Amino acid sequence: MSTSPTIFWFRRDLRLADNPALVEAAICGDAVVAPAFIVDPRFAAPAGPTRAAYLRATLEALDATLEGNLIVRNGDPSTELLALATEVGATCVLATRDHAPAGRRRDERVARALAHEGIEVRFVDSNYVVPPGAITTKSGSPCRVYGAYRRGWELVVPPTPLAVPNGIVWRGARSVGLDALTEIAGSVRPAYFGELPDDASGEQWSAGEVAAHERLELFATNASTYHAHRDSPGEDATSRLSPFLRFGALHPRQVMAALSNTPGRDRSFETELCWRDFYADVLFHYPESISSVLQPSMSSLRVDRDAAAVDRFQTWARGETGYPLVDAGMRQLLSEGWMHNRVRMVAASFLVKHLHLDWRWGAKWFMWRLIDGDIASNQHGWQWTAGTGTDAAPFHRIFNPSLQAQRFDPDGVYVRRHVPELASLSAPQCLMPGGGDGLFAHESYPAPMVDLNRERLEALSRFKEARSG
Ligand SMILES: Cc1cc2nc3c(=O)[nH]c(=O)nc-3n(C[C@H](O)[C@H](O)[C@H](O)COP(=O)(O)OP(=O)(O)OC[C@H]3O[C@@H](n4cnc5c(N)ncnc54)[C@H](O)[C@@H]3O)c2cc1C
Repeated sequence: MSTSPTIFWFRRDLRLADNPALVEAAICGDAVVAPAFIVDPRFAAPAGPTRAAYLRATLEALDATLEGNLIVRNGDPSTELLALATEVGATCVLATRDHAPAGRRRDERVARALAHEGIEVRFVDSNYVVPPGAITTKSGSPCRVYGAYRRGWELVVPPTPLAVPNGIVWRGARSVGLDALTEIAGSVRPAYFGELPDDASGEQWSAGEVAAHERLELFATNASTYHAHRDSPGEDATSRLSPFLRFGALHPRQVMAALSNTPGRDRSFETELCWRDFYADVLFHYPESISSVLQPSMSSLRVDRDAAAVDRFQTWARGETGYPLVDAGMRQLLSEGWMHNRVRMVAASFLVKHLHLDWRWGAKWFMWRLIDGDIASNQHGWQWTAGTGTDAAPFHRIFNPSLQAQRFDPDGVYVRRHVPELASLSAPQCLMPGGGDGLFAHESYPAPMVDLNRERLEALSRFKEARSG
């Protein structure tokens, strides 16, 4: 019987319950597990300060459940895991499989390097209900449209969530703490961000596995109204589980199991979890779609990149466009590190279709500020909105931010909450460009930065130009 511990390499699965890779680690190491997290500068540097702070809070919560035994090291995971294995006498490393492009490359490198030294690295399970790559069309090719993917996804019955493995003995070792994570994060910053704020926000979000289950329980009590209210940004009607899912404090299997018996609930919530799986699947099959358009015909779409474009980008990112719903969303992103889904779509559409900027600029800013920033959901949420991705009827869908505000925030609850200059105005004035005109115009709120109709026509003309080659 082996007496050497197994190293469990935590990445995007920062929980103990329903963690099949951890169960396997416990079996492998005769219940002695050395829990490790490696701060890899290649991954930490491009993350904005907000998500890094949230990750830190999640890791601190994890460390508490590990009775202070989380081993944190900084550097290249191959070097650090090898050193740790030598220190604790481990011959096996377990981790949950990462399906994103950079994670896959890293894992192949690490597995090769450790195998060379006689240490086995095993990857188990995934962070999704259905692992990327598992669903294909009838002809065996990847699904490029959601409907086809969804049909396959619905046939899969997720396994019952696993309990925390019994009797694990945590094997601690030297740990360098998490200061480096906060210091390294944000050190790779695009020039076009200019003086945009870098402070970490999002303190209002709780972190860790216990908090994730509390949030899930709370959501389960009103999940039956999700469908009717999920598009109203002024209401607390969505689950707000995305930060927990992002770092794996919760697995989507656990969410589905917890909600399965909610009376009066339809399947619209599962639809959203399926979008999450779908985008991970698309990125798995098309790793280049992190930065290249999924639809080749859209690669020649003309976007602006001059100094005026950079100015427009920064005005958008500061939430000073003069369009209240867009500004409310961008300011929620600044203050909370999160944005309601409906508003993400409206703000993203505005950047691409009214400001004629590159979707990648917007996606970068979202990834910089979002605590739930996830490369698959974000890049493909952007590509969908930009009309370059998986949407079947893409570019002509141009959200009018004023009409969207009237439809989804008719009383101006969301706008007034996030745009203080408009807080004293009632709806519909507070929803109008520039905060309404004439009597209701507010001197401290910006005038609309562009004319919607003119820019809409410009967008359509650029679209036509791109399509004609
Ligand atoms: C431009 C753009 C960028 C986005 N970037 C991200 C991102 O970086 N990270 C992220 O997790 N989501 C992203 N989304 C998807 C979505 O906005 C968020 O998942 C959602 O707002 C999170 O809030 P919630 O947990 O209350 O969602 P709910 O409505 O309660 O949904 C439950 C879960 O389903 C998943 N989900 C919901 N909607 C989507 C969707 N459209 N695509 C993929 N998964 C979804 C999320 O994991 C979410 O937590 C983006 C959407 C757009 C349009």
